[in-house]
Amino acid sequence: MMAAARRPSTLIDRLPPVRGRYTANAPLDRVTWFRVGGPAEVMFRPADRDDLAAFLAACPADVPLTVIGVGSNLLVRDGGIAGVVVRLGGPFASIEPDSVRAVLTAGAGALDANVALVAAEAGVAGIEFLVGVPGTIGGALRMNAGCYGAEMKDVVSRAVALDRQGRTHEMTAADIGFGYRRSKVPPGWIFTSVTLDGRSDQPAAITRHLEAIRAEREASQPLRTHTGGSTFKNPPGAKAWELIDRAGCRGLHRGAAVVSEKHCNFLINEGGARAADLEALGEEVRRRVAASTGTALEWEIVRVGEHQSPLAAVEEAR
Ligand SMILES: Cc1cc2nc3c(=O)[nH]c(=O)nc-3n(C[C@H](O)[C@H](O)[C@H](O)COP(=O)(O)OP(=O)(O)OC[C@H]3O[C@@H](n4cnc5c(N)ncnc54)[C@H](O)[C@@H]3O)c2cc1C
Repeated sequence: MMAAARRPSTLIDRLPPVRGRYTANAPLDRVTWFRVGGPAEVMFRPADRDDLAAFLAACPADVPLTVIGVGSNLLVRDGGIAGVVVRLGGPFASIEPDSVRAVLTAGAGALDANVALVAAEAGVAGIEFLVGVPGTIGGALRMNAGCYGAEMKDVVSRAVALDRQGRTHEMTAADIGFGYRRSKVPPGWIFTSVTLDGRSDQPAAITRHLEAIRAEREASQPLRTHTGGSTFKNPPGAKAWELIDRAGCRGLHRGAAVVSEKHCNFLINEGGARAADLEALGEEVRRRVAASTGTALEWEIVRVGEHQSPLAAVEEAR
């Protein structure tokens, strides 16, 4: 999907000097798993934690900030994201296991699956579930990511975040206030690292568990598609996918946006869908589920950014 055209932004001129990189009008449809969404007005990739802290301390208070991981739980709207989008990359991707204490420290930009693999090699057990979550550690902390009976709240011993003013906060799992696919840390805070508690076990045994999780995923989820994973949270005492199925929404589509046949709590961009198609399809599913079961589904996927103005759509079509 083509990114929405924006007027040239002068925002970069108002931002503090950094060692990392600013990019104006940075495409986000190449970043997000759904492969949709307009551009970031400015993308900032910090050189390291100090660079990020200095940026936050000096960034004008009226500039909106959004942090993203790898966009595996994001629906970025077609009008893009105003302000600065912070993306942690390589400088935040360190993974350091400690086999003796059975703990592991990772940067918030590290991929969850890599963390699980490194932990397994080092004989640190209990973190295997992360192999099934296709995001970063920062996104996993924000969303309290989990699967197959384990979630971040069970394994976090300490996390570090920067607030909007660039001040450092060290937190325990209790401080973070994990709930079902959420944490209570203020929206503007950016996680920079985490220490996870595991237990010692044989690498071969941990690897067998990893492989079992992978096989289970493969069998039950449309992994090689453009999707955002589970669209809606499971309501108390119910499974979102069962309600969606009962409401007759399996396979429902709106243009190239489709409710997956394989796992009907997943929406899929079959190619060429707009964020607006996916969002409208999700809302149609919510409407049908509410009408037929009385349950109001809550979005698990985080929707960010602005709707595209009709004028921009016309200009883009020319
Ligand atoms: C095929 C598929 C399967 C999935 N399976 C699961 C599953 O089994 N269990 C599960 O829990 N999730 C699952 N997900 C959803 C997703 O992978 C998780 O929510 C993941 O934790 C998101 O991480 P991310 O880095 O992609 O974050 P993004 O999608 O980029 O962002 C998600 C949220 O986290 C915030 N965020 C990102 N980085 C930071 C940071 N450093 N500091 C503060 N906030 C931050 C963003 O602002 C946003 O609010 C699945 C997704 C897909 C596509």
